[in-house]
Amino acid sequence: MLTDSIAELSRLLRRRALSSEELARRCLAEAERQQPALNCFITLTPESALRQARAADQVLARGEGTPLTGIPVAHKDIFCTAGVRTSCGSRMLDGFIAPYTATAVARLHTAGMVMIGKTNMDEFAMGSSTEHSWYGPCRNPWDMQRVPGGSSGGSACAVAAGIVPAATGTDTGGSIRQPAALCGITGLKPTYGLVSRYGMVAFASSLDQGGPLARSAEDVAHLLTAMSGFDPLDSTSVDQPARDYAVNLGTDIAGVRIGLPEQYFQQDLDPEIRGVIESALHELEQAGAILKPVSLPSSHLSIPAYYVVAPAEASSNLSRFDGVRYGYRCRDPRDLTDLYCRSRAEGFGEEVRRRIMIGTYVLSAGYYDAYYLRAQKVRRLIRDEFRSVLREVDLICGPTVPGTAFAIGERAHDPVSMYLCDIFTVSVNLAGLPALSIPAGFINGLPVGMQLIGNYFHEERLLQVAHAYQEMTGWHRRTPGGPA
Ligand code: GLN
Repeated sequence: MLTDSIAELSRLLRRRALSSEELARRCLAEAERQQPALNCFITLTPESALRQARAADQVLARGEGTPLTGIPVAHKDIFCTAGVRTSCGSRMLDGFIAPYTATAVARLHTAGMVMIGKTNMDEFAMGSSTEHSWYGPCRNPWDMQRVPGGSSGGSACAVAAGIVPAATGTDTGGSIRQPAALCGITGLKPTYGLVSRYGMVAFASSLDQGGPLARSAEDVAHLLTAMSGFDPLDSTSVDQPARDYAVNLGTDIAGVRIGLPEQYFQQDLDPEIRGVIESALHELEQAGAILKPVSLPSSHLSIPAYYVVAPAEASSNLSRFDGVRYGYRCRDPRDLTDLYCRSRAEGFGEEVRRRIMIGTYVLSAGYYDAYYLRAQKVRRLIRDEFRSVLREVDLICGPTVPGTAFAIGERAHDPVSMYLCDIFTVSVNLAGLPALSIPAGFINGLPVGMQLIGNYFHEERLLQVAHAYQEMTGWHRRTPGGPA
């Protein structure tokens, strides 16, 4: 099991105490060993990993490279990777070999990272447990009977299990932060537009954002530095100057104002989760943070608004999978209509079909105003409330998820209870804000995540506060026992 941070591994690589090739071999061996129990990978890429590692070793031998040169990474199988299967967790794309590489992946490659494989995920990123995968459920390394969260569950699991020090994920309504919380690692959903969506299979384009998962805020900062930045290939990419998110990590957090929305700490919040978050807040207060009660009155509308907007966009995005151009095609179609219907019915799983039907319904002529338009108005309201609160405080804090990891099968057949896992995360995507989940403690041996939400493009501040907290507490250094 690999528990070193990116920074530690990078030091070893630079001192030549370890070669990138040895490191890649260790990760691949660990992946092979743990895969049968965890099912966190859809594809492993040992040959190209060793090739990339040897190339990184040459760069390191010349004394060149970045803090990420030679460091192994796993990519969520939603990112296109040229020449490698990109399945998106779906039967629809089971045989799909991407013809090009996603910008976020290409940038990490250019920074010298070594891709070990592609990670398991909920089909088309729809879900909160990584149970809705054509390749079977992924498991939580802290307790094999439980889910790792989702939809980037394979990525969170691979990092938590010590297979890789870093992974990528995507977050449309919480899919980086929620699995990071349930697996006891650090995950960042950047501001919408900071990380290019080019080559990321689209779920709900106005909400989707790629980002890093790793053990610590420091590691996440290095990954974000490499992944982010303007991309002319993504029309929603924001033209911001490139930044190094790691250089000022040690900045003092005294005086930082943290808002605590009353809606995140209501009566029905699990008392144990409340206890964990309150003691984390106490630690931040000790470090000089100023805690302030705030209010986000439309919070309760975020789930209904999200579950109209996201399926609406999904129904449009997923119309490209028609059995004609690429992806799964049914056998012996009778005619064109039969080809469309059966290819989509057989290629998509139950949850994806449910979303397509909801999305098509809310966009239909008779219901557009009643559902889609209203959801967009609520979205605006939610965004405006965040904006006004973020004028008074520097960041907002609360639990990432209302509970700890739940049992496999517990919610799989109850979509509404699955949707409620996202109660604290979806509003952030509706507003387009950056947010981070960090490990803040344990309940019965299962990790609990704390969420920090920042203002637009204030990732640096978020990471500074998270780093200060991690320096003080060390929850992020705990590791699961792993399979025997
Ligand atoms: N769990 C949410 C959903 O099912 C969010 C998924 C995501 O962020 N990709 O839509």
